[in-house]
This record gives sequence, structure tokens and C-alpha cells, in this order.
Amino acid sequence: MTTASAIATDATVLFTELTGDAPAGLWSAPGRVNLIGEHTDYNDGFVFPFAIDARTVVALGPRDDGRIRVVSTFDETPVEVALADLDDLFPARRDEIVEWARYPLGVAWALLSAALLSGQDAAASATGVDLAIASDVPVGAGLSSSAAIEGATASALNDVWELGRTRVELAQAGRRAENEAVGAPTGIMDQMASMLGQADAGIFLDCRTLAAEVVELGFDAAGLELLVMDTQVSHAHSTGGYGERRAACEHGAAIMGVAALRDLSVADLPRAQQLMDDVTFRRVRHVVTEDQRVLDAVRTLRDEGSGAIGPLLDASHASMRDDFEISTPELDLAVEVARSAGAIGARMTGGGFGGAAIALIERSLVASASAAVEAAFAAAGFGAPHVFTVRPSEGARRDA
Ligand code: ADP
Ligand code: MG
Repeated sequence: MTTASAIATDATVLFTELTGDAPAGLWSAPGRVNLIGEHTDYNDGFVFPFAIDARTVVALGPRDDGRIRVVSTFDETPVEVALADLDDLFPARRDEIVEWARYPLGVAWALLSAALLSGQDAAASATGVDLAIASDVPVGAGLSSSAAIEGATASALNDVWELGRTRVELAQAGRRAENEAVGAPTGIMDQMASMLGQADAGIFLDCRTLAAEVVELGFDAAGLELLVMDTQVSHAHSTGGYGERRAACEHGAAIMGVAALRDLSVADLPRAQQLMDDVTFRRVRHVVTEDQRVLDAVRTLRDEGSGAIGPLLDASHASMRDDFEISTPELDLAVEVARSAGAIGARMTGGGFGGAAIALIERSLVASASAAVEAAFAAAGFGAPHVFTVRPSEGARRDA
């Protein structure tokens, strides 16, 4: 990963190229790795992600004409609209905005409309802003570059507009931006991890109540590293399989007469199997058993330490591969090879259909396991993977 200060410099330089001025401040938010609990968030269930040491930085400065302009090192063509027009643009006319810019502009829209709803003057009097964005969170790798850009933007605007929103409310604004301004039907996990993360800790989150607990991971003390194996096969959230999986989960919950799959337990599965078609049942079984694995992982961590959660990671991968059917040959290979190379547990992470797998592994084995994964990808004729370690890190913050 690039150092955080290099990203801050990139954002500052881009800001100065755009405006001719120095920014008024820098804010950043991290990507995340989901340790366990996949496709449980939108089923009102449990997840256990942590914020990583790759961040998106927003350099921000005020302007006096009530307009918002965004630019990113990913796409240096600035996008500019009047704050007063955001409500017309989102969600109805979002297609007029280039996709990447819907993330930061959508966050501005979500924050202002929430402020208006709660009768805050801030919405009417919000000053215009310029935002320059730089990041070292890999895009489309399942590490949530989307939550990072949302969290950094939300933190920056919350401060300059003096909105006084809590971290959970900023996470909710990010989710609303992603769902309605971008059009990607994602849950709340990524934003919560990016907003609430802490060094060497995971966030155990109940996605129904949004109750979050910071749980120490102790990877360092146990001599463990978290290896990310990015297959470099990009997923596309706004379309395809992700939406179908959500629909199958809703269908399964409706058949069982519950509000969400969270309301089922492993003991309900035999009845579910009798009531639904095989595909729907396997989707339901993944979610219900995955919820249980999250609870088991948190308990195991507390009772026995991080060295004991390997089998739960392995079981999670098997469930996603066989029941939820969101893995790919690349992800399966990465997981198998990491395990043969000594990982204590491995699973694909993120929404699936591409992206990254993770492995929990002893520090001394990181280099040989990485080489083994790279060699296996070459032998299989797959594109080269990007293999690196991440550390559980601090969530969104003001940097300068
Ligand atoms: P993931 O969150 O897994 O990386 P998503 O598809 O959810 O993948 O979000 C990636 C999208 O978010 C990018 O295609 C881009 O539109 C937007 N994005 C993320 N980071 C940045 C950035 N630094 N600058 C501009 N757009 C970004
Ligand atoms: Mg995302």
C-alpha cells in the first residue's frame, strides 16, 4: 500500500491544480475487509468486518457560490453542480452524472436532505465546496473503495457544514448515496466498518439494530497476518448476480413468514427445505448458517483468540461456493492454495463474482504463500493476482 501521507499529498496537489489554493482541510476514510459474515447485512443479520490501512483522502475547500465541484485522481475531469440542484438530480436524473461522481455528490445530497428533514438551517445555508479525492484502496476488489470515498466525503462535509451527525448517521448517508444516487443495492456493513474501525480491532455489527461492538482481533500478538488475494477480476455491483441474490433472500424470508432471514435460526432449516425450491433453500441456508458463523467467530475470538477462527473462515467459503454460488474459479484457487501453503483459514470476501479472497496466516509464511498463489494463477492461465497484507486500522478521521 502507498503510505497515507502520499495519498494526502496527491489529494492536496489535485486540489491546488483545480482551485489554485491550498485546501481548508483533509479528511480520510478506509476501505474494509470483511472477516466473516457475507451477504448477511441486507438480511438484517450479523457481520464482522475491519477497516484496513488503505484510505481515500478528500481535500476540501469552501467556495462562495453555492456549487459543489468534485475531482478524483481516477478521473481528472471535474464534475460541478449547484447544491440547490442536487435534489432534482438524485435519484431521478442520476444518469446525467458520470458514475464515480455520484458517490461524493450523492453523499452531499443525502446529508443535505437529511438536514432539511430534521429542520436544520445548515441545509439552506450550506456553503459551496470543492473536493479533490485521492485513494490507495483498490477499486472493485471487494475492499470497498465505495465506502471509503463515501466516508471521507461524509466526514468532510459534516465538519464544514457543521451538521453534527454521528458516525452511524454518516454511515447511513453513505449507504443512501450508494443505493439511491449510484443505484447499487448494497447494505450498511461497508460504511459502518469504514466509519467505526479501530486499530487491531474488528466491528461486530448487528445490521438490524446497528448496534456495533469493537472486538479486539489480536492478530499482532498471535503473530498472524491477514493476506488479501485480489484476483483482479472486477465485480459489478449495480447489475447482475448481487441483485438476484438479494431477491432470492427476500423470497425465502417471505415463504418463511419472517421480516428478514435474520429471524431464522439453523433449527428452522429443515422446515425451510420442505417449503422452498432447492435454489432458494440453498441461498437461505447460506445466510442462516453464516449468521451463526459470525456469532461463533466473535465468541471464539474472545474465548480462544484469533488462532482458533480458521475453521469458521473455511466453512464460510464452502457455503458461498456451494450454497450461495458467488465464488469464481480464481477465488476458489486462491483459497485452496493459501490453505495448502499453511493458512489457518481462508475465504472469499466481499460481494463475490470476482474481487478478493482473504487468508489468516502466520507471519513467517506470508512470502511463501503469496508466491504459491501467484504461481498457481500463472499455471491455471489466470491473470496475475495482487497479493498483499492489510492491518486492522482506524476508521474515518480528519487528517489536517
Ligand atoms: P468496491 O467498493 O468493492 O471497490 P464498488 O463497485 O462498490 O467496488 O465501488 C467502486 C466505484 O466507486 C468505482 O467504480 C468508482 O465509481 C467509485 N470510486 C471509488 N473510489 C473512488 C475514487 N477514489 N475516486 C473516484 N471514484 C471512486
Ligand atoms: Mg463497494
